[in-house]
Amino acid sequence: MTISKELLLQSCADIGVSITDECCDRLDTYAALLIDYNQKVNLTAITQPDEIVKKHFVDSLLLLRFVKLGQGIRYADIGTGGGFPGAVLLCAEPKSEAVLVDSINKKLDFVRFLLRELGLEAEVLTARAEELGRNPKYRETFDVVTARAVAQLNQLSEYCMPLVKVNGLFAPMKGKLETDEQQRGFGAIANLGGKVLQNESVIIDGAQRHIVVAEKISQTPTKYPRNQAQISKKPL
Ligand code: SAM
Repeated sequence: MTISKELLLQSCADIGVSITDECCDRLDTYAALLIDYNQKVNLTAITQPDEIVKKHFVDSLLLLRFVKLGQGIRYADIGTGGGFPGAVLLCAEPKSEAVLVDSINKKLDFVRFLLRELGLEAEVLTARAEELGRNPKYRETFDVVTARAVAQLNQLSEYCMPLVKVNGLFAPMKGKLETDEQQRGFGAIANLGGKVLQNESVIIDGAQRHIVVAEKISQTPTKYPRNQAQISKKPL
């Protein structure tokens, strides 16, 4: 084993998430492949097995305390990087229909390799979220859209909310969410057709983590998402 199964199970139990033995095995393989691949391509600064368990795996799995995935659920992870949280969630809920997105292809090469090695299926897309949000093949087609550590909440909402279908969920994950960012972010979510249902801080291994769960209650106005330049110059 590359990782400590005890640490993984205990840390998951601490945040109220239970995972199967198969999930533990997949995450063990994930950690070994990540450590090896990271020597050639910089995917993460976190390379110690215990840290990978806590800061990448358990942190990603936190979503499952708030949002149900599994058969019949289509989810997207925007800015997945080395697969966090999207590929980790697929290890736990392999029957979900996952779409893992990043604008940087070399990170996705690792994700494609990882999924092949694990025998898991997902659509892995090199694209910017704003492009997908204007593409009818993806716009308003997801039950759940998540993203971890990608952008300020107001900008991130414009990337992600157009992809969520009506009655679906937007569930961004962050470190600390400051009051200013939260206020602007919640305003953006409302403008994009969402309603915040949960706004939770959780401590994982002494560090504060934050998850917001918003329901899409009406369609996103067609003028969103704007292009990247407008999103960053005039954020919602
Ligand atoms: N989510 C991963 C994690 O938590 O380890 C990676 C976080 S990394 C700081 C942010 C990632 O988001 C980068 O890989 C970047 O390429 C991607 N990204 C940023 N803006 C994006 C956008 N508009 N569309 C797609 N990917 C984006």
